[in-house]
Amino acid sequence: MRPVWLTVDSDDIRHTPSSQGHPTRSKGAPHEGTSNEMKNAMKAFRKWLDRTQVTLTIFVIADQLDDPIFNQWLSDLLKNHPQVTIGCHGLTHRCWSAFPEDVDGFLAAIVEADIKLHKFAGDAWRPWFRAPAGYIAPWMAPVIAKAGFELDSSVNPSWLVRKKAGPWKDWNAVENALKDSGLISRPWLTKFGLPTCGPALSIPFLRWNAKRAWSRLGPFVLPDEAEETVYWHILDHGKKNGQWRPPLIT
Ligand SMILES: [Zn+2]
Repeated sequence: MRPVWLTVDSDDIRHTPSSQGHPTRSKGAPHEGTSNEMKNAMKAFRKWLDRTQVTLTIFVIADQLDDPIFNQWLSDLLKNHPQVTIGCHGLTHRCWSAFPEDVDGFLAAIVEADIKLHKFAGDAWRPWFRAPAGYIAPWMAPVIAKAGFELDSSVNPSWLVRKKAGPWKDWNAVENALKDSGLISRPWLTKFGLPTCGPALSIPFLRWNAKRAWSRLGPFVLPDEAEETVYWHILDHGKKNGQWRPPLIT
């Protein structure tokens, strides 16, 4: 077994790159608020958390706090689960490394997100960052540090998604930039060079590979003690009629 840091991302359907935030993948159907699919998933996730009581971090997109349904749900969750911490998953879900370099725009967005999330989460807030959709380029690292973050968990060190890593399509370049900026990096678990987190949990073959990798994980700890980092989406909990679970022994 290997100590693991469990993380979930709070993306609603409107945040997915196919909907918004990406220069070529987005079809531009803007939505607002919390979707019905998300509401069901939030309910199922909360049930799972109440039962398992696991230590985990939720990476939240700051624009979700504007929606009273999501805001209320998260604040009740935090009241009842002091073991849950909150990190930043962007102000919106803009895929920064898919666009031309924009230091000022990126800095302004994550400073605003930081203030919003910190104010909301209070003691549960941690200066931890995860780039929307895992799109992170080397130029973003010093900006993340400048905004006051101490840890980054955006790197998915697999050749399959190297195009997300910026102009050189090189995860090592991103890792070096994070290190040079004084940030701690917590990349996501891969197996056989393949992704095991997020969407990989529901893609045929990758799902099989992920299940095998995840079945050996535990205990569930914070990033300072963890040897591995995994993530999934709150939205996943809406699958299988609310019966979906991450492939962990809980
Ligand atoms: Zn996301």
